Amino acid sequence: MCSLNHFRRIEKIGEGTYGVVFKAVNTDSGKMVALKRIRLENESEGVPSTAIREVSLLKDLKHPSVIELYDVVIADSSLYMVFELLSMDLKKLLDKAKEVFTPQLIKSYMFQIFDAISFCHLNRILHRDLKPQNLLVDEYGHIKLADFGLARTFNIPMRAYTHEVVTLWYRAPEILLGTKLYATSVDLWSLGCIFAEMILRKPLFAGDSEIDQLYKIFQMMGTPNEQIWPGVSQMPDFGLKFPSWKPQQLPSLIVKYKDKDFLDLFRHIMVLDPGRRISAKNATQHSFFRNIEPVTYVSLPLDG
Ligand code: AMP
Repeated sequence: MCSLNHFRRIEKIGEGTYGVVFKAVNTDSGKMVALKRIRLENESEGVPSTAIREVSLLKDLKHPSVIELYDVVIADSSLYMVFELLSMDLKKLLDKAKEVFTPQLIKSYMFQIFDAISFCHLNRILHRDLKPQNLLVDEYGHIKLADFGLARTFNIPMRAYTHEVVTLWYRAPEILLGTKLYATSVDLWSLGCIFAEMILRKPLFAGDSEIDQLYKIFQMMGTPNEQIWPGVSQMPDFGLKFPSWKPQQLPSLIVKYKDKDFLDLFRHIMVLDPGRRISAKNATQHSFFRNIEPVTYVSLPLDG
């Protein structure tokens, strides 16, 4: 573990669920990094050793599409994570440069993400809170996952560091129904929502509360019952009084997407029963990705 003295902060580049992120330079090597500060104010004993251990494990998680964690530094009752620096997050790209999302880029991004998730799942690490804000991009067409494994170490708070309500739009139905047994399938649901958002250019299910989120999902996918999802009625937050919606047609931009294999993959991801949802590994092998062409340049919007 190195000291914070080796880094000079340049500017704040973001605020996430757990804390502030700074652009910084390693003054020994000259290398630019992203420095994430996680304040652990409730901890009277300093930074818990379990958090240090858990986070340090992530240093071994190396994959071209997972943001590299270079180091972990403890200073002023905070835990600092030193990450590889990328240009911006996918949310900003979706907000500011909708025109860059060509079918070729969407396919390339999705393949990279599925491949990275498959690798993390193979290493028994779940994300649990995937959303466009924690997918980072650069101008060479790369997309990388950030914040892997943090939800297990620090839990997903109800409100972010900035007091913003944590977004529910990408949350899997089994989490909304109160499961305590998280499985890898929770990440697949989030990816399906992100996939759809790149095509629709707006969120697929933009709920403003947990129940609104669940109802938005059920209105499109149908209210689950024991036939389509065995065990669903035993879930902690399943209500017998849920309205019984029939599955609706998916948005027409998705149904009519020009790539004919897309709809099949999408239907295998957006399955209410997590036990029948496609795995990330199988998704990478789907025929949708057979004719993938690498994208090597993306015109990113300027800051601001
Ligand atoms: P996070 O806490 O990871 O959600 O980070 C909050 C925001 O900071 C992200 O949405 C990004 O805009 C930015 N950010 C986080 N990590 C990095 C990084 N490694 N490179 C560039 N920007 C980052």
